[in-house]
Amino acid sequence: MKLTFFGAAQRTTGSKYLLEINGHRLLIECGMYQGHRDKSTEYNTTLPFDPSSVNAMVLSHAHIDHSGIIPVLCRDGFHGSIHCTDATADLCNYMLLDTAHIQEQDAVFINKKRAKKGLPPIKPLYTQTDATDSLKQFSPIPYSTPTRILDGVTLTLLDAGHILGSAIVVLDLEENSRHVHLVFSGDLGRGHNDILRDPEIPRDIDYLMIESTYGNRDHEPLADVNATVCRIINHAVEHRGKVIIPCFAVGRTQQILYTLSQLVQTRCIPSLRTFIDSPLAINATAVFRTHLECFNESFRAVMQNGSNPFAAPNLTYVGSVEQSIGINALREPCIILSASGMAEAGRIRHHIKNNIEDPSATILIVGWCAAHTLGAHLASGDKQVAIFGESFRVRCHVETINAFSGHADRTELRNWAGKLTGPMKGIFVIHGEPEPATTFADTLRQLHPQSNIRTPVFQDTVEF
Ligand SMILES: [Zn+2]
Ligand SMILES: [Zn+2]
Repeated sequence: MKLTFFGAAQRTTGSKYLLEINGHRLLIECGMYQGHRDKSTEYNTTLPFDPSSVNAMVLSHAHIDHSGIIPVLCRDGFHGSIHCTDATADLCNYMLLDTAHIQEQDAVFINKKRAKKGLPPIKPLYTQTDATDSLKQFSPIPYSTPTRILDGVTLTLLDAGHILGSAIVVLDLEENSRHVHLVFSGDLGRGHNDILRDPEIPRDIDYLMIESTYGNRDHEPLADVNATVCRIINHAVEHRGKVIIPCFAVGRTQQILYTLSQLVQTRCIPSLRTFIDSPLAINATAVFRTHLECFNESFRAVMQNGSNPFAAPNLTYVGSVEQSIGINALREPCIILSASGMAEAGRIRHHIKNNIEDPSATILIVGWCAAHTLGAHLASGDKQVAIFGESFRVRCHVETINAFSGHADRTELRNWAGKLTGPMKGIFVIHGEPEPATTFADTLRQLHPQSNIRTPVFQDTVEF
């Protein structure tokens, strides 16, 4: 048995791990590399292995850094099944099509520039047709249901509590009557989530692959979040301003809707008109409404007792561009949730542009923003920012809440890892930049001193 790290090794994006067993190849994740444009093109266009040599694939969750290159894999020769939960398959349906649409738009933009220089056009990374075709290979399995997916490979998906449908991948491997229990954490949630269950604890582990995104730092305490949101909304109401929330379409949007509905119910804030202005967020919210099996008990009860936060009377799902532009004319306090979360693309940029010089408006950043993005500039307190090539003075309020993270922080990762049992012969620390990965590896050495703990790099191979 052999495992090769083809992505998210001393990095957080581009997850791809290839397991070889009994002459078969199982690919774990097929994520998009997200970073510098030249590198992205290089890493995302050509896979570092022959797609037609892969027999099956496992996908832990729908985030693009784990799923985004599946259409390339399938187009270039992979014909096997892609195993994941039902909710992950449903989310991928929208997310891969949305990503394909972005790739097509990018290619049009680049080709206009190339045409002016007399250069030949480039093709998009993949098209909506490629994405639609790849969706036919998805073969969902329920949580906690051991399933034979290849000769000598039994897969069980446990809840990772990270986003809807997210899973910890448990692989029971058998080769020449040798048994190995390999566990891949996927991305781990924080636990105590309003909507999702806590990450489950796999047992009897021989080898572990564990994420380390926040392996070197803790998030803000969760307890203060409702009070902070309450203060921000009431301030906007008092000043008759709009609250603009750049928001990831999957997970964060639904979490914010629930937080707002709770604050309305407890009369901490008035019931303001709230717009969900992102086609992907609208589709993702529809997927949430059909997957009650992924919710924790208390949220399932909320959904079943008629107080569905995704169908509150003050919500408007904004489909068309005309409707989106129409929000501008509104002269009353309201809340606008729109993608993208880092304010780098999508309708959110228009809402920010239209309100950034209004002292009564508030921009509320609720997610991590990569360096150099508009969201990061706003969060770091810049007084002048560029939007669509124009310069704007930041005259509105800007607020940041970091506690909504979907990732376990240092303490939460350590607590999860501390509960794991089994021989733990080897631990591979992945899905983290070099600093958090190495810091977390040191933490793991204290928890599991008997383990051989490594932070693999791109194309490292280990044999079991
Ligand atoms: Zn994720
Ligand atoms: Zn990830």
